[in-house]
Amino acid sequence: MNGHFARLDQARFPEFAPGTVWLVGAGPGAPGLISVLGYHALGQADVIVHDALVGDGVLDWANPSAEIVHAGKRGGKPSPAQADITIRLIAWAREGKRVLRLKGGDPFMFGRGGEEGAALRRAGIAFRIVPGITSGIGGLAYAGIPATHRDTNHAVIFLTGHDEAGEVPQSVDWSAIATAAPVLVMFMALKHLGSIAEKLMAAGRSESDPLAIVSNATLPEQSVIKATLGEASALAHENLPTPAIVVCGPVVDLGETLNWYGAAERENRLG
Ligand code: SAH
Repeated sequence: MNGHFARLDQARFPEFAPGTVWLVGAGPGAPGLISVLGYHALGQADVIVHDALVGDGVLDWANPSAEIVHAGKRGGKPSPAQADITIRLIAWAREGKRVLRLKGGDPFMFGRGGEEGAALRRAGIAFRIVPGITSGIGGLAYAGIPATHRDTNHAVIFLTGHDEAGEVPQSVDWSAIATAAPVLVMFMALKHLGSIAEKLMAAGRSESDPLAIVSNATLPEQSVIKATLGEASALAHENLPTPAIVVCGPVVDLGETLNWYGAAERENRLG
């Protein structure tokens, strides 16, 4: 087994050059779900700036001499302003550091990776994006729920239940979304789940549509609650654990058959 992983030491990885920034997706939680390029970056970085959703398991793989900075953003709690984080990323890069910006899931999926990348480009700092497994796909997989399935849906919509002001996003056309795809995957949706469900049903989505809430997906403390869209607002009042991803549509029922992440699997924190 050793020999197998040691082959990676010989692999010709892209150089993490001093003065550059890598925006890396850490995956949904379980450390084993970071990419090989992301793992490589952890070993090379001088500064690692990570979100609240990046677990300790992943950070354990950081270069021991790296400076680790918590730039936590977590619903409702105070967090450094986005502009401050970006300014600091640029400053470290200008000092010649290898800067690893580590984000939960995928950096471009409701992760503000685009904003940070654009700011780096404006500042003339070279960067690379290392995609990650988004909780909106990988998190569901740990509940045995496929985002697409040939018999049930040929389309899936990813959406956020939260805008910059913490409100249900106005720019989302709820009535179009309600019927546009059989499967909706909702990030940051717990707080406003009741009103989101009302909007979807008012626009014609069935109250009997199956719904699942997967909390702490991919981690040993993962929990899954199944209900229907009609029951969603009652659930929203219970203090469900976060982070949580909400999925609505017929794929939820496949979890009965495809559910695989049991007690034995949870004993291993790697994934
Ligand atoms: N870029 C991230 C999403 C960031 S937005 C990604 O691709 O996954 C933060 C939201 O992601 C949370 O509110 C929650 O809806 C979801 N999320 C992230 N990690 C999660 C996890 N381990 N379990 C359930 N939901 C998660």
